[in-house]
Amino acid sequence: MDKKTKLRNDWTKEEIEKIFNQPLLELIYQAATVHREWHNPEEVQISTLLSIKTGGCVEDCSYCGQAARYHTNIKVQALLPTETVIAHAQKAKDSGSSRFCMAAAWREVRNNRDFDRVIDMVKGVNELGLEVCCTLGMLTEEQAIRLQEAGLYAYNHNLDTSEQYYEEIISTRTFDNRINTINNVRKAGITVCSGGIIGLGETNGDRISMLLTLATMPKHPESVPINALARVAGTPLENNPKVDTWEMVRMIATARIVMPSSMVRLSAGRIEMSETEQAWCFMAGANSIFTGERETLLVTPNPGVSEDMQMLNTLGLKPMRKAEEALVNS
Ligand code: SF4
Repeated sequence: MDKKTKLRNDWTKEEIEKIFNQPLLELIYQAATVHREWHNPEEVQISTLLSIKTGGCVEDCSYCGQAARYHTNIKVQALLPTETVIAHAQKAKDSGSSRFCMAAAWREVRNNRDFDRVIDMVKGVNELGLEVCCTLGMLTEEQAIRLQEAGLYAYNHNLDTSEQYYEEIISTRTFDNRINTINNVRKAGITVCSGGIIGLGETNGDRISMLLTLATMPKHPESVPINALARVAGTPLENNPKVDTWEMVRMIATARIVMPSSMVRLSAGRIEMSETEQAWCFMAGANSIFTGERETLLVTPNPGVSEDMQMLNTLGLKPMRKAEEALVNS
């Protein structure tokens, strides 16, 4: 299909607001149309996420069970051995994943032996032929270059929420710190994975504003995770209401329309969705999910890989090859 939608980086808040506020079925139809111009709608990217260092984080992200200051049931785990991580990556590949993401609960990367070990992990996973992604906190340009040279394909650094609402959610770093790391990742030639979370108590205006920041970056993030808050007992947001699936669908559809070439990832919150609800998210343009043998997404529950494969089968979807090979006619 010819692409009628062009990639744009000059969106205005009013334009995104208009898209976001459309009647829901009109919005889904528009997003599904854009999706078909840019992607094969039968394919879903399967990514596996492994926590390589869990808990004990000095930051105060109010949604996160890994922050040391909150009293949660999360078991702190030091950085895993390289061989353990490579074995997990091999298993993920054997189960149909094309991307392997390694997450460490760090505020920032330090130039120490732990970082050297992560560099070895990146090299090892890359040698398996998987797209390698990391999320390690804030990063300097030099550190980003080291990761790129080791074979890192993508770096995840979510905006989390809008610039205006940011300080309500996190006080230990700023929205500008976030942007700075994303810029360092870009300068090093690594692809960017950046999205956010809904259900933090933000308004629709904040959701639109976050999408505006992403969609007006000089280059859209290649991957845009849309998360629903996973409420973790012991965190300040544990009693927030559950995110309604239609709010996720609205967010995914708008992201799909304003960033047509990106992979839009249906991320945290899937465990609370039925297959039918997830199908609406795919219809609205989501084309990537996280799965994993451990049935957790970092420290919160997530469907397991066999359950996911069964769902894809029911919906007539199949695992995507590597994302870089997947864009239609691009
Ligand atoms: S989201 Fe990341 S940076 Fe924030 S507390 Fe959790 S592990 Fe730390």
